[in-house]
Amino acid sequence: MNRDCYYEIRLYDPAECSAAGYPTFVAVTGLELTRPRAEIHTNEQLQQAIVRILTDQERQALFGGNPFLEYQRCCVRCGGALGLTTCQGCKRTYRDDQCEPSEGIELPLIVRQHLVQHGHSFEQ
Ligand SMILES: [Zn+2]
Repeated sequence: MNRDCYYEIRLYDPAECSAAGYPTFVAVTGLELTRPRAEIHTNEQLQQAIVRILTDQERQALFGGNPFLEYQRCCVRCGGALGLTTCQGCKRTYRDDQCEPSEGIELPLIVRQHLVQHGHSFEQ
């Protein structure tokens, strides 16, 4: 697949912060899109562009093991977008860890359903 059409969502837990007060990293999901991620700015655009969820092996192979730095951060508790210091869904707060600000993209439905199928439960 085209690397430009890759989108990555990282799930963090704002209820389980590190000693420094930052939300804890929980999981990562790689998505294949029908169009370049640079064209995606809203929940609706992302929802419509998703082809499928990549396997862990596919995701790791895509960038040859190098970290992908343009990910979106979402809340593992509610699926909301994580702002700099507050989850836009459940309103939990945490310290600003200087990560790139999110564009406000929430967890897409397909990822939410995928996680639920694998035993995760959301609070809302
Ligand atoms: Zn939340």
